[in-house]
Amino acid sequence: MNKPVIAIDIDDVLALSAQGFVDFSNETWGTRLKVTDYDEDWARMWTLDHEQTRKRAHTIYKSDVVGKFKHIEGADAVLRTLKVNFKLVITTSRVSNVHSLTLKWIDTYYKDLFDDIHLAGFYEGVKEGAHTLTKGDLYKQVGARYVIDDHPKHCLAAAENGIETLMFGNYPWNNLETYPDLVHKVHTWQEVQEFFDGRS
Ligand SMILES: [Mg+2]
Repeated sequence: MNKPVIAIDIDDVLALSAQGFVDFSNETWGTRLKVTDYDEDWARMWTLDHEQTRKRAHTIYKSDVVGKFKHIEGADAVLRTLKVNFKLVITTSRVSNVHSLTLKWIDTYYKDLFDDIHLAGFYEGVKEGAHTLTKGDLYKQVGARYVIDDHPKHCLAAAENGIETLMFGNYPWNNLETYPDLVHKVHTWQEVQEFFDGRS
């Protein structure tokens, strides 16, 4: 029997990405951003126009910063347990420029856990408005039965497709007043483990 698929995000689920990102921004451009200032809409976060934002994005993609992000404690052990009964795949909105760095990073911190790594692709070319797109179609393509992601727009898109979803972490961008039935808020990887205990 095929194992049910869990589609798992990287940034701020497996990696401390917002922290790594704002640290890089502060070092490179002298910004004074904190994790709580992080926004997927980089133009809004930096208060820059699209062209200036695009230039900074290219600097980020050309750097090796995503290969230096810290991993989130506890994820690896829980995922090794889940792998027994589930097929684990990555669903990330990272762009293809950082694909090989991402594979190397996964190999360092989460070796032999994931069957596939899928890039949503909507940030390719740093197009305006890309931050409004969701991974809803990608979740369907990979046959996800469950999703773990930190961003409400992806979690809600998954739930709209009937996929049970864990909204991960305690971030300024992911505290909702109400949650649809299929969306469960989890704060830690221990809570992810507790959710899956008894499900397979
Ligand atoms: Mg994320």
